Amino acid sequence: MTSSRISGFYNMTVEERRALLREAFTLTDAETQNLSNADALTVGKADNMIENVIGTYQLPFGLGLNFLINGKEYVVPMAIEEASVVASASHIAKIVREAGGFRTESKERLMIGQIQVVGCPDFQEAKQQILRQKDILMKAADNAYPSIVSRGGGVRDLDVRVLNENDASSYSKMLVMHIYVDTCDAMGANMINTMVESIAPIVEEITKGKVHLRILSNYADRSLATAKCVIPPHLLKTGSFAGEEVRDGVIHAYEFAASDPYRAVTHNKGIMNGIDPVVIATGNDWRAVEAGAHAYAARNGHYGSMTTWSKDEEGNLVGEIELPMSIGTVGGATRVHPLADFSLSVMQIESAEELAQVIVAVGLAQNLGALKALATDGIQKGHMALHSRSVAIAGGATGEMIDVIAKQLVEQQEIRVGKAKELVEQYKQ
Ligand code: NDP
Repeated sequence: MTSSRISGFYNMTVEERRALLREAFTLTDAETQNLSNADALTVGKADNMIENVIGTYQLPFGLGLNFLINGKEYVVPMAIEEASVVASASHIAKIVREAGGFRTESKERLMIGQIQVVGCPDFQEAKQQILRQKDILMKAADNAYPSIVSRGGGVRDLDVRVLNENDASSYSKMLVMHIYVDTCDAMGANMINTMVESIAPIVEEITKGKVHLRILSNYADRSLATAKCVIPPHLLKTGSFAGEEVRDGVIHAYEFAASDPYRAVTHNKGIMNGIDPVVIATGNDWRAVEAGAHAYAARNGHYGSMTTWSKDEEGNLVGEIELPMSIGTVGGATRVHPLADFSLSVMQIESAEELAQVIVAVGLAQNLGALKALATDGIQKGHMALHSRSVAIAGGATGEMIDVIAKQLVEQQEIRVGKAKELVEQYKQ
């Protein structure tokens, strides 16, 4: 396995980076061409993916480096428009690898399909009948998608709840049945939707009610992935800040997010800064991941942090994350978008479970990157310096001018579009 520790990658030209990748990952000609082809996702292909297509839309595509997860090296493709995210993830991954790397796991990977039943003459009796006929229902759902059963997946469990039974309104009284499905390496939305739609008539017969909605739940809390890192304080030393100071600053910052939703939303946005780019790069459904992650952050009745940060007995900083991950390595756009396919092969991912774990590890790294900056120099110093190129472009800089203007913006400590416009005018004179 090629090491993900690629020194000086940020100083190389794009061509040099591609050449290094070609060599390190023995990429095929087609994969290499896709990287340099602005039209890797052809309009023709796009036209078959969504409706009313008028073109394709691109994002910067970079590599998160230095990741060591469960002893395996990962370079992590990230598709994102925001400066400093990739740099920050790579910076933290480098620190964590010196501390032994991330440890990740997934206890199970079951996706949930929901069936809503209304108008049952007796909701409790309907619930008991469903439980009595659980095996028949599970078998019927498996029969609706036999190929997943032959792959070793299929329905693993079923449960049922009655909601709002004592409400006066017949609209809010309902029975909700869940099937829990091992979708193997697929995210599974379409397979689950097929299953729940196909067993709806049997559910109606059993409950004597009317089946209403039949759909996957994006609250994938039976498909959790966790990541952990343990960092000795000396690895956290930053400028004049001692490692212990940084560690304590990170823990204070975490406690703020854990206690206050105004902070938690921004804290978690920083985590999704790491998660979404990998989800997007691999062709997965980032809306599904976002929705599930935020709901999970509110599982204790209030919206809190997606991570925890604490100090262990040896004084190490301990970070943990646990999130639902409804992603796949097959299905959806994962094998349709050429760069998604490329992303999965560069990461040398073997299963959806593995991908889920890499994604949460990147989220944890991103969180520490933000908290460490906030607890020391503040977020703007590093972020704005990296953002200066975008500001220069927004101010009208092109070609070689971009670097010159970006450097002047940083030197003059005025990283603003108005200032960039002024500098561009001066440059042209
Ligand atoms: P697909 O419908 O593409 O199904 C995955 C396919 O992959 C299956 O048909 C299966 O076919 C094949 N496959 C090949 N190898 C494997 C393997 N190892 N494990 C599992 N399947 C394998 O995708 P999904 O069902 O995963 O649905 C994901 C898509 O659904 C995403 O694009 C998502 O945006 C969208 N979606 C999301 C919703 C939501 O989030 N609420 C709702 C509706 C859609 P076979 O077994 O026959 O070979």
